[in-house]
Amino acid sequence: MKRIKLLDKEFALSIPASDIKKAVWTVAQKLNHDLKDADPLIVCILNGSFMFAADLMKLIEFPCQVSFVKLASYEGTASTGTVKELIGFNETIEGRTIILLEDIIDSGITVSICVDMLAQMKAKEVVVATLLFKPEALRKNIKIDYAGIEIPNDFIVGYGLDYNGYGRNLPDIYSVIQ
Ligand code: 5GP
Ligand code: MG
Repeated sequence: MKRIKLLDKEFALSIPASDIKKAVWTVAQKLNHDLKDADPLIVCILNGSFMFAADLMKLIEFPCQVSFVKLASYEGTASTGTVKELIGFNETIEGRTIILLEDIIDSGITVSICVDMLAQMKAKEVVVATLLFKPEALRKNIKIDYAGIEIPNDFIVGYGLDYNGYGRNLPDIYSVIQ
């Protein structure tokens, strides 16, 4: 099994790029089917989702717009349980269908806060799409409309996800070796 080292930690290959590609394609097909007439605003949660967003957008076949928000709940390999808003919502949200895009849903705190904020801004409808989902880590009662791959409750890096800023460039996803 391929291994890599980032800072002080070792990681083993967990999801190869070919499997990520299939999962992104599957999410895109479902969105293409379900939201073709919704004229949605796609809201990507930075930083982690930039790679998923870029690959997914190229497979979307209906008219849509894209925007970015930046929140932070992770420090090192553990969720802090609170979320900081670093870049806020700029576009008009009122009356719009929003596709909220996450790289990974862990505790669900980030998505839950975003959904609440979008509801306050009177979004018509919010659908949540995530590439990765850790069902065992979920602590919030949220509706996840599209989840690419379910994974165990391990810390992962690659394909946009980082360990203290490193590893986002990796095309495959790696899991930390305990
Ligand atoms: P949540 O708010 O659901 O607990 O966490 C969401 C955010 O934490 C994700 O968008 C992601 O940025 C980060 N995160 C959650 N799990 C992992 C992980 O295993 N690895 C990395 N690098 N980031 C994660
Ligand atoms: Mg994220």
